[in-house]
Order: sequence, then structure tokens, then C-alpha cells
Amino acid sequence: MKIQLAEHYGLCFGVRDAIAQAERLAAQGPLTILGELVHNPVVRERLAQRGVREGVLNDESAPTAQVMITAHGASERKRAEWRGAGFGVADGTCPLVRHAHGQLGLLVSLGYFPVVIGKRGHVEVAGLTGDFPDAFVVENADDISQLPLYERYGVISQTTQPVEKVRGLVEAIRAARPGSEVRFSDTVCQPTKNRQRALRKLLAECDTIVVVGGRNSNNTAQLVTAASAAGLTVFHIERAEELEPAWFSTAEKVGLTAGTSTLKETVAAVHERLKEIAASLTPATA
Ligand code: SF4
Repeated sequence: MKIQLAEHYGLCFGVRDAIAQAERLAAQGPLTILGELVHNPVVRERLAQRGVREGVLNDESAPTAQVMITAHGASERKRAEWRGAGFGVADGTCPLVRHAHGQLGLLVSLGYFPVVIGKRGHVEVAGLTGDFPDAFVVENADDISQLPLYERYGVISQTTQPVEKVRGLVEAIRAARPGSEVRFSDTVCQPTKNRQRALRKLLAECDTIVVVGGRNSNNTAQLVTAASAAGLTVFHIERAEELEPAWFSTAEKVGLTAGTSTLKETVAAVHERLKEIAASLTPATA
């Protein structure tokens, strides 16, 4: 059994910087993160060990005076509500999420009706639409028939959506609203694009894929879905201890990748465990 590590995998700079910011703030005083800083249990446990608390973005009460917005971002309205309630608000929003907010705001200011392609209810999407109560979320093609009729649509995407899916949905909106102008700003982030491209390479070369990442991590789920759709055997794990040797009894080439909220050290531990499994499966020569 051979193992191939994806060319791009795991922790992106946005998550890395948000974790570092939380650890810096926690060293200065009590801190509550407004939600899961990242959708990754390993990271959350590490922060909890440093005394960092977790609160709820939509409930302006926290056990500490200092709170922090996660890398997924939040609406300006939400920030103002927290400040108004007397909290110090630190901002861990990834610059690329901020860019998506900026693009949506720009499109609205130019008179376009706001449309966000992404997962309904996801914290990043809630943040993007939070300042535009009329904004319409397109999660899949079935949603488009419900899109209210406007002359001009300004479309952006959640940063972690598969870019081909997003482009397909933009074309579907254009087809469904032939008399309207549809202006699209591609806000899928580069680290997500890199990981998706690296996964495609693995899919072409492997028969089995291991994806490491939180079970509620959207971009990890996208990697799992893409590998499953390609017909490969896929295992989604959060940590090395979950790997079972029996899963790989017929595997010849195993591809290894991870979502953008997964620590490199978690992936390294999985890689080591896979090597041990590979060694144990190699038939002894006479
Ligand atoms: S996945 Fe992209 S947008 Fe999200 S934190 Fe990472 S770099 Fe930023």
C-alpha cells in the first residue's frame, strides 16, 4: 500500500492566524470566542486547555469582558450589538472572508440584489447576509426557482464552496433569469481552490482517500463529497486514533488530505499511522 500526501492540505493562513490571535489574547486575559474558532475538535480542546471559553455569537452574553469573532466573520450589525452590550470585540475574521463581505457590500451599493452561494445557516453565510436582510442564499440548483425577480443580481460565494459548483450555479441563475444582469464576484478563497485542485490530482491517482478534519467543517465535508462522487473509497477522520487497519486491506494507493481547519501536526500523525498500517499489511518475503 502506497501513501500519497496532497500537494495542498490542512491549515490555511486564515485559521492559523485566528488561532495565534486567540492564544495571544488568552495570554493577556480571560477570553470568550463567539462560536467555534474553527470547526476542529483538536484545536478547540487546545484552546480550552488555555482557559479560552466558547460563547454564542447570537447571544450577547459572555463570561468574559473580552470576546473574539471567529475566522468565519460576522455582520457589522452583530459586532455593533456586542459592542453596545459593553464587550471588547476582537476580530479574528480571515481577510478573505472580509474580502467576500466587501464584494457583497460593493455589489449592493451598485444596485445589485445580493445573492450568496453557500450553505444556508453556516456561520460564514449568516455573517455575509446579516447586514442585508433581503439577501438570497443559493445552496443548490433547486433554490434558484425561488429567487425573487430583479433586474440585477450581485452574486458572491461562501469562501469554502467548490469553485466548479459555484460557477455552475451562477450559470444556472443566468439561465433562469435571462432578462436580468447577473454579476458574479468569485470569492472562493485561494487556499480552498488549492486544496480542491490537489484533491483532484489524488483522485486521479489513488483508489482510497483519507480526509482529516472536523465532522462539522464545511470545507472538509466538500473534500469528502468530491472524493465520494469520484467513486473512491473515502474515510473521514478527525484524528489518527480513528484509523482501522482493516479499512486498507485491499487498498493499493491511499491519498491523504485535510480541510483548512486541520492542524499540520494532526495530519502528520495520521500520515505516520498510515505508514505503520502499510508496513503491517506488506506481505513478508520468504
Ligand atoms: S478557508 Fe479560506 S477564507 Fe476560510 S479561513 Fe481559510 S483562507 Fe480564510
